Amino acid sequence: MDAKIYVLGAGIVGICCAITLQRDGHKVVLLDKTGPAAGASFGNAGAIVNGSCVPTSTPGIIGNALKMLKPGGPLSISPTYLPKLLPWLIRFTLQSSEKNYQRNALHLVALTKHATNSWQKLLKNTDSADMFKAVGWLRLFETSQAFNANASSRQLMTDLGTPYQTLSFDEIYDLEPNLARIFQHGFYQPDCHFISNPQRMLQSLTEHFVANGGQFKVAEVTDIKVKELQPMIETTTELIYPDKVVVTAGAWSTKLTKGINYSAPLETERGYHMMLPVTNAISRPIVSAEQAFVLSPMETGLRVTSQVELAAVDAPANYAKIRALLPKVKRMLPEAEMTEQSCWMGCRPSLPDSLPIISQGEDKNIFFAFGHQHLGMTLGPITGELIADLVAGRTSAIDLSPYRADRF
Ligand SMILES: Cc1cc2nc3c(=O)[nH]c(=O)nc-3n(C[C@H](O)[C@H](O)[C@H](O)COP(=O)(O)OP(=O)(O)OC[C@H]3O[C@@H](n4cnc5c(N)ncnc54)[C@H](O)[C@@H]3O)c2cc1C
Repeated sequence: MDAKIYVLGAGIVGICCAITLQRDGHKVVLLDKTGPAAGASFGNAGAIVNGSCVPTSTPGIIGNALKMLKPGGPLSISPTYLPKLLPWLIRFTLQSSEKNYQRNALHLVALTKHATNSWQKLLKNTDSADMFKAVGWLRLFETSQAFNANASSRQLMTDLGTPYQTLSFDEIYDLEPNLARIFQHGFYQPDCHFISNPQRMLQSLTEHFVANGGQFKVAEVTDIKVKELQPMIETTTELIYPDKVVVTAGAWSTKLTKGINYSAPLETERGYHMMLPVTNAISRPIVSAEQAFVLSPMETGLRVTSQVELAAVDAPANYAKIRALLPKVKRMLPEAEMTEQSCWMGCRPSLPDSLPIISQGEDKNIFFAFGHQHLGMTLGPITGELIADLVAGRTSAIDLSPYRADRF
């Protein structure tokens, strides 16, 4: 124990790794080019989806994607980025076979079923627990057609032991009385939680880490190298020689690993949010299944999150589509004030099989924790626990082979 460990990237995954490693007795430095919560962890929907098991690449993905690509749909692909993206798209599509889908679901739920428990452990003895709310996760359907189309996901959840309830019209409005009476079917996961301010959560956890002797530094990493087991981090201002390094830079992670000759098929599914000055309208994150957006009752207002935009990680944001959702949100909450407060874009780090990399590298003092796609908030704390096991050389309660860095 007592190694000097640098964790590179202060999103939810990096912060969770830093805290669990610190609790294991290591000297930990958490480093970010901008600050805590500068990436996807800033503006997500805040849902902690315990037991989430449906991979993004599902049987029938090509037909579904074509529907989603229609004007106004939730998916877009940058034409100029398409040639660069193509190898990832092919790998992603190959994951949609029934066999791969079932296998990926199994390995996903092996992690997500620990989400609530790991969050509770992480939050112990911190000042951040007020933001972790036991309100569940609700999906709503306007038509029986959309509800029936979701049957295979529900079957998968039943098969893998993820608890859920289907809700009637009356049960939906018992839970959420302020919604317009447009929904016929509901689908509720009562054991899910909600982070009511992801940015404040990350800032507060970073403060906890620093108060307990950790160091937080703003610095941009330009390269990592290893010589005779000794890692070297190059930043724009200095060279650092730690005992061990954990790469947690989300969608930017593989940009940092070129110097150690490590690459992975990491792309970004860019997502957007819009904030509205609405409070107390709903009590939990709610998915509108047909309109493909999530409404989250953040402590800073109502957050509308949506979209998968396949484009370069550093391409400029285009807020037109998220803004175009305003009338649809209004239809769902007719009494609410619909004035845009702010818009945001974040880069989900995604690998073709919907599973993260949680792994020791070929260089044994380098560790990887990235690629958490749509579930990084859910999976941050369990990832931190597993990285601490790997660093300590402990056998984890979860078989880590499905998340190995060399699986591609
Ligand atoms: C619209 C949207 C909604 C979402 N909703 C949910 C949800 O409800 N529930 C859920 O579980 N997940 C959700 N997600 C996914 C989740 O937000 C991500 O999976 C998660 O935030 C990824 O965390 P991360 O720590 O890996 O990466 P990030 O949060 O992106 O952090 C990476 C960090 O690395 C830093 N960095 C990058 N390059 C360098 C460098 N060279 N040097 C130093 N630092 C560097 C960045 O500044 C950044 O702070 C959502 C995502 C989006 C976009």
